[in-house]
Order: sequence, then C-alpha cells, then structure tokens
Amino acid sequence: MSFPVFDLHCDTSEYLLGHSKNEAGSLRRSNGHIDLERASSLPGYCQCFGCFTTPAMEEWFGLSPIVIFERELATIQREVSKNQDLISIAYTPDEIEANRAAGKMSAVLTIEGSAGFGYDPALLNDLYQIGFRITSLGWNERNPLTGSHMTGEGLSEQGRAFVREAQRLGMVVDVSHISDKGFWDIMDITTGPVVATHSNSRAVWNHSRNLTDEMFRAICHTGGVAGFNQYAEFIGEHPTLDTVCDHILHFLELDPSGKHIALGGDLDGCDALSEGFTGVESYPSMAQRLLERGVPKETVMDIFWNNAMGVMRAAVCYNKKSL
Ligand SMILES: [Zn+2]
Repeated sequence: MSFPVFDLHCDTSEYLLGHSKNEAGSLRRSNGHIDLERASSLPGYCQCFGCFTTPAMEEWFGLSPIVIFERELATIQREVSKNQDLISIAYTPDEIEANRAAGKMSAVLTIEGSAGFGYDPALLNDLYQIGFRITSLGWNERNPLTGSHMTGEGLSEQGRAFVREAQRLGMVVDVSHISDKGFWDIMDITTGPVVATHSNSRAVWNHSRNLTDEMFRAICHTGGVAGFNQYAEFIGEHPTLDTVCDHILHFLELDPSGKHIALGGDLDGCDALSEGFTGVESYPSMAQRLLERGVPKETVMDIFWNNAMGVMRAAVCYNKKSL
C-alpha cells in the first residue's frame, strides 16, 4: 500500500546550491536524498523546501546569510521552473490538492532561520507574498529573536513581535531548533497552530532537538503537528525503520487521534539516515513498517498527508480572519 507524502522540511536548496552540478545533480535527478524522478513513484508529493540561514555562514562561506538566502530561494524557483511538467510552487492548500489530483507534485517555500532577512518582522509580509508559508525564528545560534536548543535563551520582544506578525499573515511558526524556553514563550502567545517541522520524541531518544512529551502535547493543543525527522542522530543509536516507528508509536500514545504527527525528513540536510531509509523513495517502506507495527492505514494516511494539509488550511483560515 502506498501513501502520498507531505514532507514539512528538507535542505535540498542548500544541497543543490552548495555542490557542483556534477556532484549533486539537479532536482529532477540528484545524488542526494530527494529528486523528482524518485518522488514520481509516490501517489502524491508535497515538499516544503527550506531556505536555511544562520549568521555562522559568514564564517563558513565568507558570504552574508542574506546573499545565501536569496541564492537558495533562486535555486528552488529555478529548479521548479525547469521541471514544470512535474512540479509547481503551491501558494495555497487548494493548489496542493489540485496538483495532487492532476498527478503533479507541489513545492512549498519555508524559512529555516531568519538571519537571511535580518530577523526583521516587518519583512515577513514581503516573504509571505513571495510564497513562504512556514517560518522558524532561528537555527542553532542565539540571535536577536531567540536562543536555540544549543544556547537556551527565550524570546526577546522582537521575537514576540515576529511570532505575532507571522501568525497575523497566516505564516505557520516552526519551533524546530528553538530552546525549550523559547518554545514555551511561543506557547504563551500563540493564537494559531504551531509546528515542529523536523523534530522527534525526546522520551524515545534524548536529544535537545527533540520534543519532550509536554512540548508535543502543547503542539497538539494548538492544532499543530510534529514532523518526523529522518536524521539518524535524532532517532537513536544505529536506528532502523523500527526505531523510526518507536517515535511515532510514542507520539500516538500521547495523541491517540493521530492528528498531530506528520513528516519532516530533513532530507539533504543530514548525512546519516536509519537503516532501510535512503531518501524520498523510502517513505513507502516506512509506511509499510508502521502498518506492520499495528498503525491503522487511516492513521498512516493522516501522518503522511492529511495532518500537514490540516495545518496549512488552518493557517489560511487564520489569515482570512486577521487581515
Ligand atoms: Zn534543521
């Protein structure tokens, strides 16, 4: 049995930008974790493409994160445009469903880290108009908006203004990479669904990038989702597809409705994956293992597609009410 895949996070733009064409290939056929030829075998595919930036890029590449943000955006737009027969950028949930009905894939633009636009809440409106639909406040650094899971500080006033403005626009706030303190600061002020686009269960594998049970429950309470991250480091020691299922089954114990678990593979942003998972083509194997572990097929369909769609729809409703 095969399910459509709605994946809330990848680093494919950075992967394609950071390697030569010979090394990386292209969005159509790449040497990384995601390409359209492999994804074509799925009965529906919506991929959120993150534009990832951090101030550390100055040191890593000698380039401003603002320049890199623009290049990553241009990379996704170019690659999608070169493959218009297979995929298009979707700006609304209806476009995602229409693409799926027409046998076409969807790309959704998302923001990972806000260094690429100077942490400025006033620029979120322009970014929304460009097509960005999900945003985090930062990556692993401490920045003017918040601390991260590596530094610990909570939200600044500017960080609170950022959350309010994103939600006013209908841009979904993403808490992956944030500090625990920042997470709870967002929960204090949120008025819409909050997502962790690529974070797993800390009770199953103790890592600061993963969500505690209390954090996961709080996300459920907002109507948001946690997207399952395929990076081995966040799953367990020498993880297999069964370890992947352990995280999902734990979340299902906390959320028996199964409405708050989704996918967010972090593909092309990580080197090691679980045994049995090699890239986007492995999602059917993960689904199969979940079915074998007793997860009903309706719940697998929710995890693989419906729950992420539900968040996108909730964000649009919010946007209509508030603008
Ligand atoms: Zn990440």
